[in-house]
Amino acid sequence: MAKLQIRKVGDPVLRKVCRPVDVINERVLTLLDDMKDTMREADGCGLAAPQVGILRRIVVIETEESGLIELINPKIVARAGEQVEVEGCLSVPGKSGVTHRPMHVTVRALNRNGEEIEIRGSGLLARAFCHELDHLDGKLYIDIAEDIQ
Ligand code: ZN
Repeated sequence: MAKLQIRKVGDPVLRKVCRPVDVINERVLTLLDDMKDTMREADGCGLAAPQVGILRRIVVIETEESGLIELINPKIVARAGEQVEVEGCLSVPGKSGVTHRPMHVTVRALNRNGEEIEIRGSGLLARAFCHELDHLDGKLYIDIAEDIQ
């Protein structure tokens, strides 16, 4: 159990494109565990590796409905519909803004055992997939949000 430091907007690490994970080794598994702990401690529903200063394509998400989801090298393979909701980010503390996101998103990734998984999410989960995967390409929701408060 370890809590990692969450990088805040202005930190250049948040603007870098992350590299895929080649080998799921002990370091990757420890990072997944630490990211989960850090996300829970911060009361967030998602965290991407660059938010803790690691430029690898790794994401954790946890909503009440979905439970804990760990994604390695995730890709969005399908999107449908639209939702307009208020969004925030652990790296942009104290702010929120309105974003347009797809209502349904399907993600393909590897799990911690190296198995290919496909998960379909709607509503909040779809939004979390888009938000967290954007982090892996150096994008923040404030780039696309309207009405940031
Ligand atoms: Zn974020």
